[in-house]
This record gives sequence, structure tokens and C-alpha cells, in this order.
Amino acid sequence: MADTDVYQLYAVKYATHGRTQAANFVDPPDPHEAMPIDYFVWAAVSDTRTVVIDMGFTADVATERGREYIRCPTDGLKLIGVNADTVTDVIVTHFHYDHIGNFDKFPKADFHLQDREMAFATGRHMLDPAHGFSMNADDVVGMVRHLYGKRVVFHDGDDDFAPGITLHHIGGHTDGLQVVRVNTKRGLVVVASDACHLYANMETGNPFPIIFKKEDVLAGYARLHELADSPDHIVPGHDPLVMARYPSVSDDLAGIAIRLDEPPQAG
Ligand SMILES: [Zn+2]
Repeated sequence: MADTDVYQLYAVKYATHGRTQAANFVDPPDPHEAMPIDYFVWAAVSDTRTVVIDMGFTADVATERGREYIRCPTDGLKLIGVNADTVTDVIVTHFHYDHIGNFDKFPKADFHLQDREMAFATGRHMLDPAHGFSMNADDVVGMVRHLYGKRVVFHDGDDDFAPGITLHHIGGHTDGLQVVRVNTKRGLVVVASDACHLYANMETGNPFPIIFKKEDVLAGYARLHELADSPDHIVPGHDPLVMARYPSVSDDLAGIAIRLDEPPQAG
């Protein structure tokens, strides 16, 4: 991809949740052991294009669900120079509450999602609390309204998004989850979102327990390895180790925003 666009790639942490391993693995090795998770949004920025990946949740939803809210993801994006008011493209990896909220804070954006995710979030599986619980009905309905407002762009499976950015369907966690592969100066980095919540889910083949189809989750780990230039080019969706391994955007933003286009500091 030498002739294509090269992006700076950021992760911005906006919330966290103290919990135990029981909430993070289908088969937790030590269920009572503390194992917090982080919540992120991501941004890919080139000389000519700014793309936001996911929008996080709102302060109200943080209170409802007992998550520790650090700041609105749009305020976090502002700290790295990304203004939600002017962003024209948001990639929605999937419809879970912690990825799809705040869409009203992106007034100029089109929302890019997989056909299958819209079908999943508005279909029969939402009658099952195992799948419906992680959706926020107001967010799903809001995205349906944006569909009728012609602000939704559908993608089906693997798709070119823009020079240097491709989308890849990896179901399993939700039926229509997509990951985003971004060309950076260190190579092809995959923002895995919840195709891989935590490094340990992938490394031990022991998935996060919110699952639509387990075999697709496991196949997804293999697919991530195919898509990325190396295992160090796969970025899990909720792992605090991501924040620890990658360099901060600046000293001021330590613990808030990191550069994923720089190599991680530890394997
Ligand atoms: Zn998530």
C-alpha cells in the first residue's frame, strides 16, 4: 500500500469500569481476580481526511450502567485536535451502547456501518436479553432515524472505505461487527474494536462473554492476524494494556490519548 494515504492513528480513553475476570472471559481463569476494562474511541487523521471510529456513550448512560466516566468522547477528541462539529465520516464498529452513543454531537457526519449490524440491532435477536441488554434502544432508534435522514452509509463485508482505510466484517460478538484497518507509517494497523476486547481473549482463545456466535469470534481472532501486519498491529477494543503499551500523544495527555501509529513499547 505504498502509494496510498498514511494516517496518524489515535485512541482516546473516555471511561473505565472496575470488574473481575468473571465479566471478561467465557471461562475466567480466576473469576474473582480484579480486571478493569477501559472504553475508547479512535481517530485516523491524514493530511486530507479525518475519520472517527465509534462514539462511545454519554454521561447519562455511564450513570445508568455504573461506568466511571472520564469525559465525553467528543471532548477527548478535541484534545487531539478532532472537532466533532466538523467530522464528516464516523465508522460505527457495532451498535453496542459503548460504541454508538453521542451521534447527535456529530452534526455533519455520515455513519458507516455493516448491513448486518442494522439488521441485527432491529431484528428478532434483540428479544433475547443476552443480546438486547448491550444495546441502548434510544441509540438504535436514533441510528434508524439517521437512516431515513440519508446519513447512514452501508457496507457489506470487506469494503474499501477511503485510500488507506478498509473495513472488514468480523461477526461473532454481534452479527454485524466490523473492524477498521488503517495504513500508518508503521504498517497496517487493525482497530479491532470488540472483535477482540482484551489481548488475553485473543491470546488464550478465551473470548469475552458477550457472544452471538462463538465460532465466529474465534475465527475472527485468526482473521485479525491475517489483516494486520503483525500481532503488534492489532488493537483490542477495551484493554487497559493498550493505554500502557503505546506512547501518549503528549505529556499532558498521558492516560488520555495515545498514538497507535507508533510501535507499542512492550509486546
Ligand atoms: Zn465495547
